[in-house]
Amino acid sequence: MHKSGFINIIGNPNVGKSTLMNCFVGEKLSIISSKAQTTRHRILGIVNGDAFQLVFSDTPGILKPSYELQNSMMNFVKNALDDADVLIYMLEVGEKSIKDETVHKKILNNDTPSIILLNKIDLTKQDNLENQVSLWSEMYPKAIIHPISALKKFNIEIVLNDIINLIPECPPYFPKDQITDKPERFFVNEILREKILLYYDKEIPYSVEVVTEDFKEDKKIIKIRTIIFVERESQKGIIIGHKGNALKKIGTKARQDLELFFGKKIFIELVVKVSKNWRSNSKVLKKFGYN
Ligand code: GDP
Ligand code: MG
Repeated sequence: MHKSGFINIIGNPNVGKSTLMNCFVGEKLSIISSKAQTTRHRILGIVNGDAFQLVFSDTPGILKPSYELQNSMMNFVKNALDDADVLIYMLEVGEKSIKDETVHKKILNNDTPSIILLNKIDLTKQDNLENQVSLWSEMYPKAIIHPISALKKFNIEIVLNDIINLIPECPPYFPKDQITDKPERFFVNEILREKILLYYDKEIPYSVEVVTEDFKEDKKIIKIRTIIFVERESQKGIIIGHKGNALKKIGTKARQDLELFFGKKIFIELVVKVSKNWRSNSKVLKKFGYN
C-alpha cells in the first residue's frame, strides 16, 4: 500500500509557514525572514518515505492585494485551497480568529481535512497556551489542533503522523528522489531575495525581483549570472551602494549560502536593472513567473 497527498500550508504573513515546510523537508527550500511577504510563490517541498509521499505547498501569507503582484500571490493561495488533500492553517499563538471568509468556512465544514497549528509556542506561557488550544477547538470542532514550534521542531512528529493518516491511498505524484518542483535557478533567485530582505529597508525588498539568466554547472564550479530588477532608478543606487559595497556584501552572503545549497563552488555575477513599476505590470509579471 502506498499513500500520497498534497498538504497545503496557508495562514497570515509571518506566522512561520516557510519555517514549517523547511522543517518537514529537512532542506531550506523556502526563504525565511522577519518581514511579511517574504514568500511570493507557491513552493512545493516533497517528503518521501517507503510507503508515502507528502507533497507540501508553502504559500504567500494571506493579505488584501493592493497591487498586481499581490493579486498573483493570492492566486497561489486560492489554488492551494482548492487542490489540498490536507489543509494546514497555521497561526501564531494569540490570534483570535480566521478573517478570510472562504478559509474560515472551509475549515469549519472540514470539506478538506484540516489541521490548525498554533505556532511559536516557545514564546508562550503554558496556561495561556491551554486557553488558546481550547478556544480554537471550540471554534473549529472538526479540525485537528496542535500547538507547535516550527523553529524549535517541537510537536512536529505528531503532525506528520496525522498527515500520513489523513492522505489517501495513491501512487507517488513525483519521482521518489525529487524534493521540489522548482528549478535550480529559482533557488538562486530566492537566496538572493532573502539577502535583500535582510540587508535593505523599507520599500526596497518589495520593489525587487530577481531573475537568474545563466546557470552553468561543470564538475567543480557553478557559474551564475543574476539580474536584480528594481522599480526606479533611485533604488538602483541604493542596491549598489557606495562604491558598490552593498551589492558586494549581498553577493558574498548569497554565494556562501549557494555553496551550501548546491554543494559546489559558486561564481556569481550580479547586475542591477530598472524595470519600471514591474509590480503593477501584468505583462512583466507573467515574464517573471507570476500569473
Ligand atoms: P511565513 O511568512 O509564514 O512563511 O513565516 P516564516 O517562516 O518566514 O517565519 C517568520 C518569522 O517567524 C521568522 O523570523 C521565523 O524565524 C519566525 N518563526 C517561525 N517559526 C517560529 C517558532 O516556532 N518560534 C519562534 N520564536 N519564531 C518562529
Ligand atoms: Mg513564507
